[in-house]
Amino acid sequence: MTGDGTRAVRAGLPPAKDYEPALPGPAFAAHFHLPGDPAVAPYRYGRDGNPTWTALEEALAALESPGEAAEAVVFASGMGATASVLFTQVRAGDTVVVPSDGYHGTSGLARRLEGFGVTVRPVATGSPEQAAALDGARLLWIESPSNPGLDVCDIRDLAERARARGVLVAVDNTLATPLGQRPLELGADFSVASGTKALSGHGDVLLGYVVCRDAERAEEVRGWRQSVGAILGPMEAWLAHRSLATLQVRVDRQAATALAVAEALARRPEVTGVRHPGLPGDPAHVLAARQMRRFGCVVSFTLPDRDFAERFLCALRLVDDATSFGGVRSTAERRARWGGDAVSEGFIRMSVGLEDAEDLIADLERALDGAREAGENARG
Ligand SMILES: *Cc1c(COP(=O)(O)O)cnc(C)c1O
Repeated sequence: MTGDGTRAVRAGLPPAKDYEPALPGPAFAAHFHLPGDPAVAPYRYGRDGNPTWTALEEALAALESPGEAAEAVVFASGMGATASVLFTQVRAGDTVVVPSDGYHGTSGLARRLEGFGVTVRPVATGSPEQAAALDGARLLWIESPSNPGLDVCDIRDLAERARARGVLVAVDNTLATPLGQRPLELGADFSVASGTKALSGHGDVLLGYVVCRDAERAEEVRGWRQSVGAILGPMEAWLAHRSLATLQVRVDRQAATALAVAEALARRPEVTGVRHPGLPGDPAHVLAARQMRRFGCVVSFTLPDRDFAERFLCALRLVDDATSFGGVRSTAERRARWGGDAVSEGFIRMSVGLEDAEDLIADLERALDGAREAGENARG
């Protein structure tokens, strides 16, 4: 099997053809020439399928499941992908186990399922309750590392326990990307992700995807996409595919800088609770090192209070105050501003981009100094 970088630059490209581009441009088409029987046509109507999606889907399947056949289905957003799995695999009367500390959009969607007669059991990522909640469940939804708290759970162990009870397992692989973690190899039935974050990595497109090895389940997810129309634009699909070629260099570099940033933050007296799965002292590190291949670009930490955190974010010059993560430019935000996450007022989620580590660390230290001094002056 080839290495990750080699696979990333070639994934999903058609065989070389004289005088054709390596990555064909986006196919802008609402409909395709369609003679005769639609059932045998590869492309018919733009909500059913598009060759630009197909190329990206082949790439994503190759990255999430190298060496074993899998099918990917792309969506207009990560939430579109998440909804496709929840709404096709769960019925009235079923129970789903979801993280209590995961992405707030997923918790919100799970609450909607309750309106359709589904029982939702929220459990903390990595807690013993996660396995204990499996009895009688239909689906276990895992987010590891969790966003924004960066807790990790043992995916292989949970998938084995789930399989023994006939429970399906879906893993939100947004934070790790397929180069950081391969949930299907760890025993999950579905790897689901927002490609809006580190996968596409430039902060300019939204997309999501589902990958699974079972062709029938892939067909259910694809059928859902066709029914609800949560389809990716061809331009977005093409941009995302183009971004995959740099995925390995981006995630390697961003993880290395994130570790340096986490270490620098951990040395500061104003900063507590620094979390990053790659940090040797992190509570999740041993487990993360066993199941992850790269630790991602997110660092979370806590500042003394809300005002301190606001002053800090305001003083940063190289780190944008913005949500989302995984992009080439560093961002940070005070997560409690959204509500919905179980975090304190001074909790910061930072996404480390491609700036030089020394520059970022100097900017963070200067902003911490500034936030502390302004607080001292205000107190007089
Ligand atoms: C952002 C995010 C999503 C949702 O993705 P969108 O592309 O914004 O719809 C789902 N899960 C996690 C972990 C995320 O960070």
